[in-house]
Amino acid sequence: MALPATVTTLLSLTEPQMVKFVRTHRWPDYRAKQILRWIHQRRLRTITDMTDLPMHDRIAMSQSATIGRSSDVAVLSSRDGTRKLLLTLNDGMSIEAVLIPDEDRLTLCVSTQVGCMLDCGFCLTGRMGLKRNLKLHEIIDQILTAQDMLRSDEHITNLVFMGMGEPLANLDCLKAAVTALTNKSWGLGWSRKRVTVSTAGLASRLPDVAALGVNLAISLNATTEEQRRELMPAASEIASLSSLLAACRRYPLASHQRLTFEYVLLAGVNDHVTDARRLVQLLRGMRCKVNLIPFNEFPTGPFHRPSEQAIRRFQSILRDACLDAFVRKSRGRDVFGACGQLGELSSPATAPPPLP
Ligand code: SF4
Repeated sequence: MALPATVTTLLSLTEPQMVKFVRTHRWPDYRAKQILRWIHQRRLRTITDMTDLPMHDRIAMSQSATIGRSSDVAVLSSRDGTRKLLLTLNDGMSIEAVLIPDEDRLTLCVSTQVGCMLDCGFCLTGRMGLKRNLKLHEIIDQILTAQDMLRSDEHITNLVFMGMGEPLANLDCLKAAVTALTNKSWGLGWSRKRVTVSTAGLASRLPDVAALGVNLAISLNATTEEQRRELMPAASEIASLSSLLAACRRYPLASHQRLTFEYVLLAGVNDHVTDARRLVQLLRGMRCKVNLIPFNEFPTGPFHRPSEQAIRRFQSILRDACLDAFVRKSRGRDVFGACGQLGELSSPATAPPPLP
């Protein structure tokens, strides 16, 4: 049966919007939570399978609504166990989410935009430009689809909004997605401690992340204004390095929290001893840790990955100054699923074939 011109996408509704939706059908308010549970907790794909609703109501709903799950999903599996999910959206655009196993953790990296407006020099996604913000159902669908793919002995331990796009540029959807993820009554019931939002530096929106109660990561990558302007020109326009760090110092950390600074190490560009020493000075006194990310190369990228020796030297300088500094393992590089590699290389024409 053809759907009417205005079709409600159920996964895009917040709880108040779902209540409004059920009222338009003259159903009782408790029906809102029933529907939300079906689509979030049970990951239902077919409205008529909501078996605790009367059949005539299910039929009525399926004539005016759709759940909003994507049906077109491809998975690229890396040798190291990383799985990249390529989801095709209704308008034909595609986005990526990445499942990253690491010892006892399984992290899901989620996208918030198609492409990105910020054009950081070391990031493939930025090359695409911004196509559009993702809608709420398109963000939630990445999480539900990843859960559908898990083996019975797996569960996602951490979720990072660090995929394609700048999460704080799609703030309303980010907030609604975190609400759905953490709602215990009808959502996935996750602890906010397991969720991290990463920003390239939208300093004025950091208080919004604090209000969400999730962890904050800042993609820093430079230790002088000039260096940051060169590497992250658009982000630097929005907030200078000094104003970003000032906003970080004002950030109201809960007692269990600390800030994470991400620092992509680029050979001969920002991996010098002097860079490490300046980084120590900039972060002095902050409750934070530093994740060092050796650059993940991609064809036509202008940068190179530093040597192991340069990476360890950089880390040692931070550690000697009592900064917690970790070198992030590069995962999923063979399927372009590593940090900074999400984007156009995943099109069918360029993506490497899935590994057996
Ligand atoms: S690093 Fe993040 S903010 Fe910068 S271009 Fe890539 S996706 Fe956008």
